[in-house]
Amino acid sequence: MSLRPNADRPRGQGRPGGPRRQPPREVEVVEVKPLTPRIVAMVFAGESLASFAEPAPTAHIKLFLPDAEGNIARPVVGLDGRLEWPDGRQTMRTYTPRRFDAEAGTLEVWFVLHNDGPAAQWAAQAKPGSRAAIGGPGGRFFVDPTAALWWIGGDESALPAIATLLEALPDDVTGQIHLEVEDAGSRVDLPVPAGFEVTWHDSVGEPGAVLVDALRKARIGDETHIWIACEASAVRKARSYILDDRALPRPHVTTRGYWRVGEANHPDHDFGED
Ligand SMILES: Cc1cc2nc3c(=O)[nH]c(=O)nc-3n(C[C@H](O)[C@H](O)[C@H](O)COP(=O)(O)OP(=O)(O)OC[C@H]3O[C@@H](n4cnc5c(N)ncnc54)[C@H](O)[C@@H]3O)c2cc1C
Repeated sequence: MSLRPNADRPRGQGRPGGPRRQPPREVEVVEVKPLTPRIVAMVFAGESLASFAEPAPTAHIKLFLPDAEGNIARPVVGLDGRLEWPDGRQTMRTYTPRRFDAEAGTLEVWFVLHNDGPAAQWAAQAKPGSRAAIGGPGGRFFVDPTAALWWIGGDESALPAIATLLEALPDDVTGQIHLEVEDAGSRVDLPVPAGFEVTWHDSVGEPGAVLVDALRKARIGDETHIWIACEASAVRKARSYILDDRALPRPHVTTRGYWRVGEANHPDHDFGED
């Protein structure tokens, strides 16, 4: 699998020749912070986080949810490096490590409370003492140090990834950030660099439609680096507009489908390239 500037590729975990997977780490919720009525920040802690690797910007983790009895499955690493699940597979979803504090041994994750899936429902009722397990981190995104101009877009599920991206950018870069949220009450504080302008859009119509519309109106050129993550169908519209209509150089464009209308457990490696 090729790795190009700004490419964000999952590691070859579990593939022959790829690195061995770490079994998921058992963690406990130590703090729950509502950021908006639809987004909750959860802080996890656990001794197992001592060996958690510093996540790259926009990295992802796998959250393994407890079953109805509160049990967390314990996979073992098989001879080929793949995880084996003697007790049956646990429900697992993809999230962004918003902030890892190695010294404190804590990991913060932001959950959209869209209320329609096991992870969102678990997050809505989780409290200090709730247990889960975390796999990863995965995904390697390299911020091109020559990229001076950015157009960054995302919906609520992408806010934590965008926060990690903004923190990783050099101080002197400039650009536009377009964010789609439910309504004005769903805005969060982000570490926006001085040279960036932020536009918050209330969600109207299909998920991601306001982001695609903002992109169509954007002043972007060959030198602009694009990062956008939102609903998978909207991501495809955005990508084809950027590459086909505006003919931006492919290495400048990162598109990520984070979820898809009507689909449970959308994959973590949807780059919207099909
Ligand atoms: C790399 C990556 C990083 C991600 N990081 C985050 C993150 O930090 N925080 C976060 O909240 N999400 C994040 N997501 C998105 C998250 O994985 C999905 O939203 C996931 O579907 C949630 O699981 P669930 O069990 O709640 O819903 P599922 O069981 O997967 O889906 C059930 C239903 O809910 C709908 N649905 C799923 N997500 C949403 C949504 N956001 N809004 C409205 N409807 C939805 C689906 O279309 C489906 O019909 C990330 C995804 C990827 C690929």
